[in-house]
Amino acid sequence: MEETLAKLKDYLKKLKQYHNITALLGWDLATMAPEKGIDSKAEAIGYFSTEAFRLSTSEEFGRILAELMIPEQFQQLNEAMQVTVKRYFRDYQRFQRVPEAFYTEYVTLQAHSQKAWEGAKKADDFSLFAPYLDKIISMTKQYVRYMEPDQDPYDVLLDLYEDGIDRATIDHLFDELKEGLRPLLTKISQAKQPDLSALEGMYDIRAQKKAQDLLLSYIGFDFQQGAVAESEHPFTTELGTGDVRITNHYREHDPLSAMFSAIHEGGHAIFAQNIDPSYENTAAAEVNMMGLHESQSRFYENILGRNENFWVPIYGKLGELLPQFKDIPFGTFVRAINYVQPSMIRTDADEVTYCLHIILRYEMERAIFNDEVTTEELPGLWNDKMEELLGIRPATDAEGILQDTHWSDGSFGYFPSYLLGSIYDGMLLEQIEKELGSLNEILAGGRIKEITAWLNKKIHQYGSLYNSGQVIERICSSPLSAKPLLHYFNEKYTRLYQLES
Ligand code: ZN
Repeated sequence: MEETLAKLKDYLKKLKQYHNITALLGWDLATMAPEKGIDSKAEAIGYFSTEAFRLSTSEEFGRILAELMIPEQFQQLNEAMQVTVKRYFRDYQRFQRVPEAFYTEYVTLQAHSQKAWEGAKKADDFSLFAPYLDKIISMTKQYVRYMEPDQDPYDVLLDLYEDGIDRATIDHLFDELKEGLRPLLTKISQAKQPDLSALEGMYDIRAQKKAQDLLLSYIGFDFQQGAVAESEHPFTTELGTGDVRITNHYREHDPLSAMFSAIHEGGHAIFAQNIDPSYENTAAAEVNMMGLHESQSRFYENILGRNENFWVPIYGKLGELLPQFKDIPFGTFVRAINYVQPSMIRTDADEVTYCLHIILRYEMERAIFNDEVTTEELPGLWNDKMEELLGIRPATDAEGILQDTHWSDGSFGYFPSYLLGSIYDGMLLEQIEKELGSLNEILAGGRIKEITAWLNKKIHQYGSLYNSGQVIERICSSPLSAKPLLHYFNEKYTRLYQLES
């Protein structure tokens, strides 16, 4: 047993090294790599990913895992190792069932399909992407059928990104939310709208970067084990113990965009920076559970960052870095960061209508995997659903079905994790107030680090040791519900928009 465990640890160490180097190359590609260096970096990523794939599907690795899965052996492993053996063995078995030729064809198609999507989005022409999407859909269905022949394919996909979550659970949560948001959004649309013209202007990018660093330090991002660079789309990447990096994107006319992206990615990073170091090289230290991860980034971005009290202690400092803010009344700023209005693009949406953007994608994915819709019908279905859920209709494919990259590489089942994250946040907020007292008072008193410490202790330190359902159950002692999130929205926007309750 000791020998087998030592062999497993050796494998895990190697896999981690491959992971770190591909992540570093990916980071470089997205931030610094010069035009002519792109191909060689992409080739290196392909090389190291293939090596990692070979290792994790090798017969020896499978034998080691199978041996440690035997109950007498399994019981002797510590919790992190048990989770590791269980997850890697499941993945190993799944990959064994996928024919190699099929897998190669699928991965190659993903790369081409992503390129086709980019072109189609630029040209604003769905027909350029349709044949690829059609193939991606049918191959993804087949891929999941190979992996788990006895399970519902869409449930398998959901479970890939958010362990333990299935359609029945999501149907219930999303329906609850959809019904609850309808009356609130109607009232908001009929209320007096804020005048936000005081924010118009040009904001120096260097100054925006200083404001970003201030915000990151303020929420608890550790610059000793993290760094920030610029990329087209903001993201977070973990490059090994002690190194969690984020990126940001800056718009000259819209300083709020980079500020809130920094808080969002900062939330992801704070999670990764605070995982118990003793989990190194185990599955517990990996970023799985996308909903749980998104719950942390969205907690910082929305529940904390869009609370006016978050800004009370630092609004003056913000004005020193970005002088225009000296002339923006605090009340106007608060209305601007909580401006609710249906819009076409998910990534630009406010925290309330954002929920409906995700519900739209979830309902479409459900229809796709129930074989209820053909690829040609998808843009029309998208537009109909936008009208039904948000009351607006895209004029073009680029502001409709072509806006997100996720489907182009077969990442079906990923979208729901964004909204699950917010649903968890509603529950976490309720629990924090029970344990620590009023969030408004904590924030207004400049004690935000108390919140970060609470999240570190209750969630971050465990990494992916438990799945999201288990984490929420342990902390809140109640089953998943969208009611706390709805309560938060209703209370907050009734006050801000002076709605009749
Ligand atoms: Zn995120």
